[in-house]
Amino acid sequence: GAVDFECDMLVLGAGPGGYSAAFRAADLGMKTVLVERYATLGGVCLNVGCIPSKALLHVAAVMDEVSHFEALGISYGKPAIDLEKLRAHKSKVTGKLTGGLAAMAKMRKVTVVRGSGAFLDPHHLEVEETAGSGREQTGKKQTIRFRHCIIAAGSQSVRLPFMPKDARVVDSTGALDLASVPKRMLVLGGGIIGLEMGTVYSTLGTRLDVVEMLDGLMLGADRDLVRVWQKMNAPRFDNIMLKTKTVGAEATKEGILVRFEGEQAPKEPQLYDLVLEAVGRSPNGLKIGADKAGVKVTERGFVPVDIQMRTNVPHIFAIGDIVGQPMLAHKAVHEAHVAAEAAAGEKSAFNARVIPSVAYTDPEIAWVGLTEDQAKAQGIALKKGHFPWTASGRAIANTRDEGFTKLLFDAQTHRIVGGGIVGTHAGDLISEVALAIEMGADEVDIGKTIHPHPTLGESIGMAAEIAHGTCTDVP
Ligand code: FAD
Repeated sequence: GAVDFECDMLVLGAGPGGYSAAFRAADLGMKTVLVERYATLGGVCLNVGCIPSKALLHVAAVMDEVSHFEALGISYGKPAIDLEKLRAHKSKVTGKLTGGLAAMAKMRKVTVVRGSGAFLDPHHLEVEETAGSGREQTGKKQTIRFRHCIIAAGSQSVRLPFMPKDARVVDSTGALDLASVPKRMLVLGGGIIGLEMGTVYSTLGTRLDVVEMLDGLMLGADRDLVRVWQKMNAPRFDNIMLKTKTVGAEATKEGILVRFEGEQAPKEPQLYDLVLEAVGRSPNGLKIGADKAGVKVTERGFVPVDIQMRTNVPHIFAIGDIVGQPMLAHKAVHEAHVAAEAAAGEKSAFNARVIPSVAYTDPEIAWVGLTEDQAKAQGIALKKGHFPWTASGRAIANTRDEGFTKLLFDAQTHRIVGGGIVGTHAGDLISEVALAIEMGADEVDIGKTIHPHPTLGESIGMAAEIAHGTCTDVP
């Protein structure tokens, strides 16, 4: 058929990976087209992921904070919740960011084509125009010819086949809609996304149950970090069911009736007003006609790439959630820049030593590099610096001294190999640890770096001094 557009670079999907790739490609002088089926740019992260969840978590954290202020001599009444206003606030937050992206695309002369794309062959993509907020199709089709392509089609929530189709069974997108504040909510899956959303609902007044197949919540993080969060958050939960599976569910008038099996399964089915499925995300690789372009896709839908983010077809790259774990926005952005630069002929490669992870719960949990558990499994001898926030002036002044900062050093080289922080703002603090690992810093480098007082960041310098045996600030 006829070709409607020609470009040097076609980017499929406008999430953090896709828009970053398109912007870098345009900055490098490539004529760039960005294809996105949804009405706004920003993908999962800006529209239904990172950003709206943080907008709500911020509100929840402030509500929780002031609820403890009576002991400090400041009292407020019981919060009055206007869900419509809260939803409007969340939309304003995401709107600001997605609108900003549209402006940046325009400035760079990136052509945004609205529609659902699928490959026709290794140099052509067909786009079926979409309309409205979601997936309605107008019937209009366009063909784009490209020299290079970056696949950034992301991922979507895994839905369990036996869960009933019912408005009271939602994924993270549905949970972010915040249609109501249910009395009883089941969080299905004990990972970060489920527990973040659970935090929001529980602060608004919902009682939580969580069910997890494996033997712990937020696996991936060291248990000592998670324990601090779990102790503080225990009042939110009626029942934390570990090593337990959801095996069936039924929509009834009274609620969603869920059956469990496993070590901590309740004998009777349980009734919930809302069930959040947060059991993982699956990549969109099998839905883009990749085979027509000759691009290899795994059975699960991941697109394998090399360190330049190239697929098996040399002029087609892939980035972000669709290429594998960890499915995180900051990883997608860095991969995006590598792919765009490699396509422009530069020698860029993705060579990050570490990618930080953060749970934006309250307190936050952040970790980067090796965990203690991983080091143990790999037989790496560690030297640990553990600084309790009960010795941090700032944490005490904030009335939030439940946290700690832990740095892990290779016992032989004294270089930092990992770190974990639990406490308020842990996610903001972990960047310094990531930088230290990337720079190959050792205990002395970090300990002798002057940190401002009184800050939570000081805890990182202190932890290094503890590992080195020179800390004077802990008993
Ligand atoms: P996506 O953001 O998934 O974007 C892919 C885009 O491609 C989408 O806009 C999609 O519509 C479009 N697309 C797909 N197929 C086609 C097609 N055939 N044609 C046209 N367009 C198509 N990560 C963090 O780092 N920090 C967080 O705090 C965080 N919080 C999260 C909270 C939630 C509730 C969720 C669900 C995720 C969260 N994530 C977080 C993960 C983060 O959102 C993803 O890692 C990130 O969005 C991946 O970016 P991406 O560019 O690979 O893909």
